Amino acid sequence: ATPTALMVGTGRGAQLGVLIKGPEVLETTRRVDTVVLDKTGTVTTGRMTLLAVHTAEGVTEHEALRLAGALEHASEHPIAAAVAAAAAERTGTPPAVQDFESLPGLGVQGVVDGHRVVAGRADLLAERAQPLPPALAEARRAAEATGRTAVAVGWDGAARAVLEIADAVRPTSAEAIAGLRTLGLTPMLLTGDNTAVAAAVAAEVGIPPEHVVAEVLPEQKVDIVRRLQDEGKVVAMVGDGVNDAAALAQADLGLAMGTGTDAAIEAADLTLVRGDLRAAADAIRLSRRTLATIK
Ligand code: ADP
Ligand code: MG
Repeated sequence: ATPTALMVGTGRGAQLGVLIKGPEVLETTRRVDTVVLDKTGTVTTGRMTLLAVHTAEGVTEHEALRLAGALEHASEHPIAAAVAAAAAERTGTPPAVQDFESLPGLGVQGVVDGHRVVAGRADLLAERAQPLPPALAEARRAAEATGRTAVAVGWDGAARAVLEIADAVRPTSAEAIAGLRTLGLTPMLLTGDNTAVAAAVAAEVGIPPEHVVAEVLPEQKVDIVRRLQDEGKVVAMVGDGVNDAAALAQADLGLAMGTGTDAAIEAADLTLVRGDLRAAADAIRLSRRTLATIK
């Protein structure tokens, strides 16, 4: 391809809301056959809201929200923002946190008001000998069956609450995914969230169950991309989070949501400026067209 034609393609990309790091990126874009999509913040808006607080016997909603809110106040995860906002609204200024630790893809922990608190995936709490009591396990199951994320909260050695968080699928995601398929690409959903939530979102946007990979730790996202490449696939990865950065770099083509984190944008080759997933298909169509006219 001539440099001039590629520059024209790059300029056209900007009009479509796609920021391209360098003209050579279009060459890779054209060869892509598999598009791996992160769920939270990519296929969904990532703007989460707290819908319900389920507590164990003897625990108040106020107590659970105050402790979880203090921890999540220190985290940058979209789930954390929802919990921190609801907690601030209902329980006021969060207490200080000591020994805060973020466990990427799992949750957060720290000491609040003298209590050792952990919030995150139920299996994270189970590993710390804090399995959900039956009533909370049932609340979790019901939440996840409808595509909501259940955040388990434990302190002083026991799981004591489940926070029910809802995220919304972006209104353009189903159309964007249909557009990728029209181009002959295979869209896949990749998430650290649990299988039930992933399945509900996949069904909503038209991704078949065999193309869904859930409960993946951030460092495993890279491995999934690498495995697809080993199978001979040319992989594009679309993500937004700090936890997607390594996979974006590993992919043949990394696409970051413009609404995402700086880490994702820096690791990517392309940025979907408006955070509209349809621009991913536009970029691939553009690269094919740009390079076809040069032949
Ligand atoms: P995704 O791949 O969908 O963007 P992540 O890898 O960021 O999701 O997170 C995976 C799961 O880990 C979340 O669905 C949630 O259950 C849990 N988790 C991660 N960070 C937090 C946090 N700050 N608070 C509570 N739970 C969290
Ligand atoms: Mg994400």
